[in-house]
Amino acid sequence: MKLNEFPEDIRKYLVPEPSGTMFYRCLGCRGEFDIGRLLYTCPSCGGILMLYSQLAGETQTIRGAAWRKIFDYRKMLNFSPLKGIFRYYEFIAPVIPLESIVYLGEAHTPLVMANQSLEGLVGLPFYFKNEGLNPSLSFKDRGMACALSFLNYLAKKNDLKDLSTICASTGDTSASGALYSAYLTNLVKSAVLLPKGKVTAPQLSQPLGSGATVLEMPGVFDDCMRVVEELSEKYEVFLLNSKNSWRILGQESYSFEIAQDFDYQVADKVIVVPIGNAGNITAIMSGFLKALKADIISVLPKIIGVQSDHADPVYRYYSEDDPSRRKFEPVNVRASVAQAAMIGNPVSMPRVIAIVREYDQAAGQKRTFFVSVTEQEIMDAMIVANKNGHIACTHGGEAMAGFMKAIKAGLVSKGEIGVLDATAHILKFSSFQQMYLTDGFPPEFEVKPREEFRNAPITIELKGLRKTPGAGRRLQGKDLDRFTKEGVAEVAKALNLKKRNTRI
Ligand SMILES: *Cc1c(COP(=O)(O)O)cnc(C)c1O
Ligand SMILES: [Zn+2]
Repeated sequence: MKLNEFPEDIRKYLVPEPSGTMFYRCLGCRGEFDIGRLLYTCPSCGGILMLYSQLAGETQTIRGAAWRKIFDYRKMLNFSPLKGIFRYYEFIAPVIPLESIVYLGEAHTPLVMANQSLEGLVGLPFYFKNEGLNPSLSFKDRGMACALSFLNYLAKKNDLKDLSTICASTGDTSASGALYSAYLTNLVKSAVLLPKGKVTAPQLSQPLGSGATVLEMPGVFDDCMRVVEELSEKYEVFLLNSKNSWRILGQESYSFEIAQDFDYQVADKVIVVPIGNAGNITAIMSGFLKALKADIISVLPKIIGVQSDHADPVYRYYSEDDPSRRKFEPVNVRASVAQAAMIGNPVSMPRVIAIVREYDQAAGQKRTFFVSVTEQEIMDAMIVANKNGHIACTHGGEAMAGFMKAIKAGLVSKGEIGVLDATAHILKFSSFQQMYLTDGFPPEFEVKPREEFRNAPITIELKGLRKTPGAGRRLQGKDLDRFTKEGVAEVAKALNLKKRNTRI
């Protein structure tokens, strides 16, 4: 729809001007810092930072129904910068000029309802939100779109050139960071640091294809993370991990989308999120809190964080009921099919602790829960989900297994509806699917496939043929007829097909 065709009362709000101010606030000492500097940790105490914004002028006074109307009409606007995470511009990063925004098709991911059979198996109705349909096939693109848009803006404003980006990754951050950096190829060079042998083949090929420098190191993700953390404090390099608060802001768009896609009715929704470095669950809670404060929603949805019992430091922290006795301990991770979440010392743990408290307080009751699931449960759930028409990766399976566990534990009950984060596309993790379908898991994963889910290609052999076709070897005449006839017979036999009924 063209701008002059929108209702007059909201037309002037549809394409926003940068306004207001943004600043970092330290979760430790509460110090506030200007966004003119690239900060990842607090310059005074070393604490973790969050970004906050203060709108200016008329936009400050907009509330509830007016925001909902702006977002709903903005959805119809054909203007690239506002199509992705910045549909919610005023709540993401309202200081970035629209011409600096990098939009590669991220966000606006579909909610796909579980069919009757899957709902029956799980116990309650639910949707997958398919984050695997983002451009680099994971939700990380939401955060990257924000971080690279900010970097682009900062570079233009200060006439910076030849910038470098870096991230440590379990696979998806590097794929996403390299993609968004590649779009700004005249401005930035990207490098990614991976734990050798701990990312899947497609995830390794992604940053290579985007032209990033790919460095592989011994160790697990936590080890790579320590290196890039120190590197980005001492060298001129822009850190793209979620320690960078600009990433968190972009990922908050997920919550606004869910609210909007359910016509802002989220009181009965249960948001289920797999946790690794804990940036995403932080962003999701923060997004819903912002929506509540602006009266865009009236009740906070329930949040369930899920971890594999092979990498579950956040679950362990919250399994102590008495808040005064909780103590965070990093864990040594073990092999996990939820490889992107195989993290023992989540960088965003201080953010989670702060925001869970704020969330429950704002809700006036406990609305945040954590469950742990086994590797077996993750794989079984993923396979079943995808056999019912979904494209969930192992982490989507983890979300579904977590939802089932929460239902069994009585944390969720009749009348509630799940919204499960399918954080990446199955094709990134097809190696785990393959191991499952062919019973090929190394013992450390502790996964045994269910017999009825086995699946492997069946070779059709055409033994009676003198000549078989091949590339550059096309059959003709009698040979082609024989091949077709025998092929049809063998395929029908393999599929156990009945002869065609003349009536239909
Ligand atoms: C990064 C990632 C996660 C974990 O998200 P965090 O923000 O690190 O907690 C889960 N699933 C997939 C597919 C990911 O790429
Ligand atoms: Zn501080």
